[in-house]
This record gives sequence, C-alpha cells and structure tokens, in this order.
Amino acid sequence: MLNIRRLSANEAGFREELDQLLAWETVSNQSVNDIVNEVCARVRKDGDAALLEYTAKFDRLELQSGSQLEIPKERLQQALKNIPADQRESLEISAQRVRAYHERQVQESWTYQEADGTMLGQQVTPLDSVGLYVPGGKAAYPSSVIMNAIPAKVAGVEKLIMVVPTPGGEVNEMVLAAAAICEVDAVFTLGGAQAVAALAYGTETVPAVDKIVGPGNIFVATAKRLVFGTVGIDMIAGPSEILVYCDGKTDPDWIAVDLFSQAEHDEDAQAILVTQDADFAAKVYDSMNKLLPTMPRKEIIQKALDDRGAIIVVDNEKQALEMINIIAPEHLELSVDDPKALLPKIRHAGAIFMGRYTAEALGDYCAGPNHVLPTSRTARFSSPLGVYDFQKRSSLIMVSEDGADTLGRVAGILADGEGLQAHAASARYRVKK
Ligand code: NAD
Repeated sequence: MLNIRRLSANEAGFREELDQLLAWETVSNQSVNDIVNEVCARVRKDGDAALLEYTAKFDRLELQSGSQLEIPKERLQQALKNIPADQRESLEISAQRVRAYHERQVQESWTYQEADGTMLGQQVTPLDSVGLYVPGGKAAYPSSVIMNAIPAKVAGVEKLIMVVPTPGGEVNEMVLAAAAICEVDAVFTLGGAQAVAALAYGTETVPAVDKIVGPGNIFVATAKRLVFGTVGIDMIAGPSEILVYCDGKTDPDWIAVDLFSQAEHDEDAQAILVTQDADFAAKVYDSMNKLLPTMPRKEIIQKALDDRGAIIVVDNEKQALEMINIIAPEHLELSVDDPKALLPKIRHAGAIFMGRYTAEALGDYCAGPNHVLPTSRTARFSSPLGVYDFQKRSSLIMVSEDGADTLGRVAGILADGEGLQAHAASARYRVKK
C-alpha cells in the first residue's frame, strides 16, 4: 500500500507540512562537493590522463588513450541504421516537431533611428560552441539529445560537443542515433563531474566550450555550479516534479499514471495531486494502489510518492490556484474542462499541460516544447531551455553629429556629477562649439 501524504488545505499545520514537502536543496552534500572539487581540479591540471582515470573508476570503462574517448562519426551513422525503423521514425518525428516549435523562439536583431539620425539597437548572435550533457548513468535519454541539441542548432551554434557516460562501455544505440539526427559535431564517452570539467576547461582531446547545458545527477549539477563563470550554464536541475490539478472529472487511472510518470524518474522525484473533490482524491489513491504493482519501476515510484508525494484536497478552484503558484511546479497538468480560463491566474510553472488529453509524457518526448525545465520552485524566476539560451545580445549605438551634440551635453553633466573627468571630456569634445 502506498503511504503517500493525504492532506487537506484547511487542516491545522498544513502550511508547515507543505513547506516541508517542498524543501529541497539541490546541491547540499559536502562529500559530493569534495569529490567534485577534486575531479574538476584534476581534469583542469592533467587533462586526458585524469579523464581516463575517472572514466575507469566511475564508469568501469578502461581506455588506453584520449582519442578513444571520442565515439567516431561513422559509429553514430551506424547506430541510425542499427535501430528498428519505428524508433528511427519516432526520433525523426520528435526532432522535426521540436525544431518547428523552437524556430518560433528565435530572437532577431533590431534597430531604430531617432530624429537626429542617431541609431540604436540590439544585435543577436549565437554562441560559438556549446557542450551538451546527456545523462547515462542509470538510464539512457535519447529525448535529452533532441531537447538539448535542436534549440542550439536553431540558434545557429556552430559547434555542438556532446558527452554521455557509457557505463561498462555499453553504448545506447538510440542515443547515438539521436546525435546523428541532430547533427552533433562530436560525441565523447564521458559522464559526471569529469565530463563537465572537460567541457569547461578543455583537454588534449575534448574542446572547451562556451556554455554547458543539460540535465544530470548531483555530481553533474554540482560540477556545473562550480564551473559557472568559466563557462555559462543553463540551470541547476533538481529532481523531476509534477503537479496535477483535476476537477474530479478525469478517469482516476489516467491521473494515477500521470503521477507515476514523474515519480518513476527518481526516488527524489515529486508528484502532487490537487483537487477540490475529496471522493475523487480517494479514487485516485485506489487507482494508484491498483496500478502500482504493474509498473516495472514500482520501487522507485513508491519511494518517491511515499517520501515526497502528496494528495491535497482544497476547498475550491481559487485555493487550488494559490497552491499551484506556491509550489511553482516543473510540470503542471490542468485536467479540467476549460484550462484556458485558468491561464491568466497561473504565474509560476515550467510547462503547463492543458486539458484531459494532454498527458505530461507527450511533452517529455515529442509535443514540441522543451523538456528541460526549471525545478525546485525555480519556475518563479526561470524558464524552459530554449533557443534564447543559445543566443546572446550586443547593444548597438551609432550617434550622429547632431546626436553627439545633444547627448554630449547630458553625458558631460552626469559625468561631472560622478567626478569622472575623462568621461566628461570624452563626451564634450564632440559637442558643437
Ligand atoms: P548521469 O549521467 O547524470 O551521471 C552518471 C555519472 O555520475 C557517472 O558517469 C559518474 O561519473 C558520476 N558518478 C556516479 N556515482 C559517482 C560517485 N560515487 N562519485 C563520483 N562520480 C559519480 O546519470 P544518472 O545518474 O542516471 O542521472 C541522470 C539524472 O538526470 C537523473 O536524476 C534524471 O532524473 C535526470 N534527468 C533529467 C531530465 C530533465 O529533463 N530534467 C532528463 C533526463 C534525465
């Protein structure tokens, strides 16, 4: 039997219980910090030699030279031929849909001209090179290849360097095939903190990149935090989360498996149901107990639900919306008749899945939007991975002769006020005599 928390938003102590439920420190473990500090320092100092050593130690893969870390391009093409036709077709459909969605995110450069001829604007340019971390310790994630690589390609990034651990030398054909479909430039069999350090600092074999993106375990997250500043990073991702808000009119079995779909990721994942219908809450609980034994990953699901899951009964829709905005979930399912009507009241969520037919899993694989999303309440201030993460902006200023006269006077006064005489002189030299 599941021992998931069953809460009522009106009972005494509910808010404290909710705070406890939501508390999660992504990178809090001192021993992980120590390991990651050491691994990153060694890779920075010893390059390939350190990579070979750590790959043998953590991924049980003995290689003789740095060049063996790279998976040859022909091997990627071979994987594309090795996988069954339905897998190849599904990867291609997913890639095509993700591309179509992300093409709408491209930011364009812009300029405007003022009456005196001064031109101002913003130039948007892609990053030169990015590192894509594709997790591979406990499971393989071909979908993560697509979700990380395609926005970078759409942005116009020239060099995409992918790393993926292959524990015991076991490569995943679908992951390699996805890398071929996405036209990744190089793939290295590397994982964990050593992979992140290699991408940040560069080694004899692995080129240094400008930004590292992609999800991973606590070693990956800690290393990304450590190298931030030397390179850019997308986000520090925590365990996966789902909040389903249901009005009580969806099949309880559907809701039960939707909650399972995130819980099966990780023992630390979080799945929460919010509903104003107490009878429905009981039905979903029954469905979960009925369906759990049929799930191959039932142990992980049960631990996640018992430790960090909840079924919360609220009084009404208003209270449900308050709950959603407090929890700021990575994935939010609105399993109601009119989800569009709720949108204006939802302020914080990584991705919003609207209506009874929109299973969150569709977004994980092929709907189009990105599945790399803000977790641990960071949807309050951050957004899904997107093309904008691979573009940067430069300000443009081209001042006319008349503009230099007007702006030179203003700048001169402000520079005087700050006591910066060279600034004032520079501005005033161009003022008309
Ligand atoms: P991973 O590739 O993130 O980590 C594997 C690496 O961790 C190994 O190569 C090894 O170098 C390192 N490692 C493992 N144990 C170590 C130890 N004791 N000391 C030093 N290094 C060690 O693969 P994973 O472990 O399967 O984790 C993947 C994570 O990514 C999961 O938490 C999963 O939920 C998450 N994920 C998230 C998304 C998303 O979009 N949010 C998608 C896919 C996966």
